[in-house]
Amino acid sequence: MLKNDQLEQWDRDNFFHPSTHLAEFARGNLPQRVITGGSGCHIEDREGNRLLDAFAGLYCVNVGYGRQEIAEAIADQARELAYYHAYVGHGTEASITLAKMVLDRAPDHMSKVYFGQSGSDANETNIKLVWYYNNIVGRPEKKKIISRWRGYHGSGLMTGSLTGLEAFQKKFDLPLDRVIHTDAPYYFRRETLDQTEEQFTAQCVASLEALIEQEGADTIAAFIGEPALGTGGLVPPPAGYWPAIQAVLDRHDILLIADEVVTGFGRLGTMFGSEHYGLKPDIITIAKGLTSAYAPLSGSIVSDKVWAVLEQGTDENGPIGHGWTYSAHPIGAAAGVANLKLIDDLNLVQNAGEMGAYLKRTLTEALGDHAHVGDIRGEGLLCAVEFVQDRDSRTFFDAGDKVGPTVAAKLLDEGVIGRAMPQGDIIGFAPPFCLTKDEADEVVGKLVKAVAAAGL
Ligand code: PLP
Repeated sequence: MLKNDQLEQWDRDNFFHPSTHLAEFARGNLPQRVITGGSGCHIEDREGNRLLDAFAGLYCVNVGYGRQEIAEAIADQARELAYYHAYVGHGTEASITLAKMVLDRAPDHMSKVYFGQSGSDANETNIKLVWYYNNIVGRPEKKKIISRWRGYHGSGLMTGSLTGLEAFQKKFDLPLDRVIHTDAPYYFRRETLDQTEEQFTAQCVASLEALIEQEGADTIAAFIGEPALGTGGLVPPPAGYWPAIQAVLDRHDILLIADEVVTGFGRLGTMFGSEHYGLKPDIITIAKGLTSAYAPLSGSIVSDKVWAVLEQGTDENGPIGHGWTYSAHPIGAAAGVANLKLIDDLNLVQNAGEMGAYLKRTLTEALGDHAHVGDIRGEGLLCAVEFVQDRDSRTFFDAGDKVGPTVAAKLLDEGVIGRAMPQGDIIGFAPPFCLTKDEADEVVGKLVKAVAAAGL
């Protein structure tokens, strides 16, 4: 462990942290935490605190911390061959094996996987592929992308444009042209309270239809969505949403990109969210759960239909002009192979489904009647509790009251990490798939204390 007692100062003087209030951090007004270790669902910090991480890092350490099988696979790969590129037909045993393992788990109509490093770069790849696709099939005008308010697809130039959250666009001159947004499928936040879930779904579908009509179907290339909204609030879709959306997209010949960065490889209790909700995507984005974040690796899984056009494109134009130095990095690929094997060996997808149901049930039993709890929702190990000022009228708290962040801070005082989600007073839970009943009980018991300590 590092013994340097200047570490805090070095951190504040030198380190540009992502998604951080930079000025407050530099001034020393924001806490700093140096993480030193982890095992199962727990992490340890430099001060000796042991915390139950009920958000699995950034919902990515799906197999849990400290898995020696993955560490050994990474070390073996690094010793044998730390790097070689994947351009012009090169590969490694790890990258080729991982591609096969991914396709074996993906829906039947998927054909090939391109590997990147992050969820953001995978979605950048996807948009390039969609534009290329429409140029090859002779539809150069069909280029706009429809995303959803509250969708999260990354924080690059294109992906930050797709992301429908204010903080990722404001002052960055985003969104870029060609990106348009439609309604968030967020039933709890429906405009009229007496609307049924089915009516709300119909409204989302009608509003998508109206947007397509207004823009012209012949200008729209693709629709991108997470099977269940993630960072935008951890919201499973309303009843009937995906089949109805899919039908609209099919009718207008609009490609579907399922962003499964969070839901891929088991989080909903099924291997893919597409399978869970019956989507038939043309491209699937994967990242986090592909390696459980033991090494950075992402992927774009393309369907037979898209692949056929990519082949045609290279026959007509030569090699595809897309690729990065670290595409299919052998160390990431080795981590991915070991990770997917571990998920199977430990039956973690099933555990995610069972423990997710248990966590949601115990949360509902403990807080379902609380005067300031408006909604408890979830699917698999993706759950949220949303706080309101008044339940009956569904009046939200003022954002300035910072109710969500306060509950998260009190929960941390209790030794449990939950995440205060943006744009609402929402505490999110997305623990590792190895969560036990005792750990789930601890999360719920400590949340109850944290809610009281926050004065609710
Ligand atoms: N897509 C989804 C659904 C995500 O949740 C995220 C990150 O949280 C991303 C894309 C971007 O991934 P990354 O942060 O690895 O760029």
